Amino acid sequence: MLQTFSYVAPDSRKDLLAILNKEGTRAKILAGGTDLMVDIRGGKIAPAFVVDIKKIADLKGVSYSATEGLSIGAVTTCIELVTDKTIVAKFPIIADAASRLGSTQLRNRATIAGNICTASPCADLSCAMLALGASVEIASMTGTRIVKLADFFTGVKTTVIKADELVTRLIVAPELVNAKFGMEKLKRIKGHDLSLASVAVVKTGTLLRVALGSCAPTPIVLPDFPANAPLASILEVAGKTIKPIDDVRASKEYRKMMIMTFIEQIILRL
Ligand SMILES: Cc1cc2nc3c(=O)[nH]c(=O)nc-3n(C[C@H](O)[C@H](O)[C@H](O)COP(=O)(O)OP(=O)(O)OC[C@H]3O[C@@H](n4cnc5c(N)ncnc54)[C@H](O)[C@@H]3O)c2cc1C
Repeated sequence: MLQTFSYVAPDSRKDLLAILNKEGTRAKILAGGTDLMVDIRGGKIAPAFVVDIKKIADLKGVSYSATEGLSIGAVTTCIELVTDKTIVAKFPIIADAASRLGSTQLRNRATIAGNICTASPCADLSCAMLALGASVEIASMTGTRIVKLADFFTGVKTTVIKADELVTRLIVAPELVNAKFGMEKLKRIKGHDLSLASVAVVKTGTLLRVALGSCAPTPIVLPDFPANAPLASILEVAGKTIKPIDDVRASKEYRKMMIMTFIEQIILRL
């Protein structure tokens, strides 16, 4: 049964931050609701206030500048990431990752910040954004801070965000514009499903970066490699870093084997 809560939908960032500041842990942010409503309905959380952020205009939209790089507003949906011309042309790994998330219905609602703030080890956008070395802009009534996505996750479904804060946008530095990329996602079924193991790789003329999902308590990124790093050394670092779990969906051995296989396939392709 769905428990009772108050629903508020402020239309300015100032009003939203004031609500978060006043209500603290009694409030929960609602973006697409594809995780939040499942958690409320399942009784995992029981917020007194659900604060819808989709009416706030300055949390929307994608922009790019050669000096600052890519900025993606928090409430940008997966379908917008898949179709946005700037993203498709300059950072296609984001469009690719968004296209793999759930079903069409989910992609129409699920937002980039929601996927990242859920902090699931298998979140598709977290993996791609880690490979791009993205940063997260976080705002509260006292100001704004920028956190590297690699430092954003603190454990399974936990992050550095405090109760009075919200993620306002994701930022990708211009250095990786037009980088080559590869992504693989292992699922139990051919249709929409969460990943059992996922790998995202970006490569420029000088740098190769590998991010991994579903193989540790959080999505993870390996230390940067030079573009010409031998495959064996990348696999060795990956093998020492990952800590997949056994669960009803897959064994840790299977996850590990698939992570290694995906890394090899992608690197050979690139
Ligand atoms: C059937 C099904 C299939 C799915 N398949 C996939 C899949 O294949 N791949 C995948 O990665 N995910 C999948 N998901 C998970 C889910 O759709 C994503 O995690 C989604 O991106 C969450 O975004 P949202 O906008 O719906 O977030 P919400 O549900 O609105 O919010 C999620 C969490 O983030 C917080 N939050 C949201 N926005 C902000 C913000 N700006 N600042 C601070 N906190 C915020 C909320 O308070 C909440 O705790 C699936 C879910 C379902 C139900």
